[in-house]
Amino acid sequence: LSKDKGRNRYSYFSKQMRTSALNRMQTISEMRDALSEQQYEVFYQPIIDFKTGLIVKAEALLRWNHPEKGLVSPAGIIEIAEDTGMIIEIGDWVFHQTVEQLAIWRTKIQPNLAIGINTSPAQYRDGGIDADKWVEFIRAKGLDHSAIVIEITESLVLESSPSITSRLDTFRNSGMKIALDDFGTGYSSLSYLKDIQSDYLKIDYSFVKDIAEGKRSMSLCNKIIDIAHIYNMKVIAEGVESSSQSSLLKQANADFGQGYLYSKPVNAKSFEQLLIEQKTVVEG
Ligand code: C2E
Ligand code: MG
Ligand code: MG
Ligand code: MG
Repeated sequence: LSKDKGRNRYSYFSKQMRTSALNRMQTISEMRDALSEQQYEVFYQPIIDFKTGLIVKAEALLRWNHPEKGLVSPAGIIEIAEDTGMIIEIGDWVFHQTVEQLAIWRTKIQPNLAIGINTSPAQYRDGGIDADKWVEFIRAKGLDHSAIVIEITESLVLESSPSITSRLDTFRNSGMKIALDDFGTGYSSLSYLKDIQSDYLKIDYSFVKDIAEGKRSMSLCNKIIDIAHIYNMKVIAEGVESSSQSSLLKQANADFGQGYLYSKPVNAKSFEQLLIEQKTVVEG
């Protein structure tokens, strides 16, 4: 009897595992066609300047319009894209899409708008991003290089190989900006902050989350902001969901805020609408 039970349990688990492996294979094969089927879309989330409350930046975030599942978030698919190498092509696509869109918005609506583009460590390995081509594409679109912010993660900084440094140097030398994303979630040794020459530090959601509840999280945030400023980085607080969080961050001298309080990531059309409304209000 116990043997039977064991066998059943075994087959139950193996079925689960088989299903998830099959799901993953299915997703991979669907993702192979998603680019050519034009199922990917770039969403934009506003980033506001704490001094004025105005949208001055945005972050470009990948979405997948799946024919059956609807809008798919990047969490799972970015990981698959990294594992399979598809992230190179997808990353290139997000970059080109965003640069073209930004050039239009800066001409038509808001000349000082800047947009952050996420990059994965996998895009900095051999055969990854062609940094010279990216720099040239921005120029060809008539865009100031400083309008593009490349978001990198702590793990990339720690890897620090020549193929990483040379790309980051190419970006920096062109005038493009660098942001350190998800700060505090990696193996944050503060010592590397002085070497990285990042323009922005993005405090991760997990730190912002509790600042309105606990003294400790608040003072941690305060410290991170002060240290960032010592290294001449501007601070973007991620995941701002409440007005109490927003005013605490403002008091702590954070420079910019991003989060559901201001807006969720939205499609290009809706983001454009936000910019137009703001322009109407500002210009009276
Ligand atoms: P991230 O770069 O840290 O982006 C911020 C994430 O926080 C986004 O999730 C955004 O929707 C979410 N978020 C913004 N405000 C709030 C808030 O107030 N509360 C909460 N709970 N969440 C908030 P999303 O869009 O699901 O993206 C997840 C991650 O996927 C990104 O994290 C980024 O690491 C990665 N990713 C997205 N697009 C790309 C891409 O084009 N290329 C690469 N390499 N990675 C990407
Ligand atoms: Mg990011
Ligand atoms: Mg982030
Ligand atoms: Mg994050």
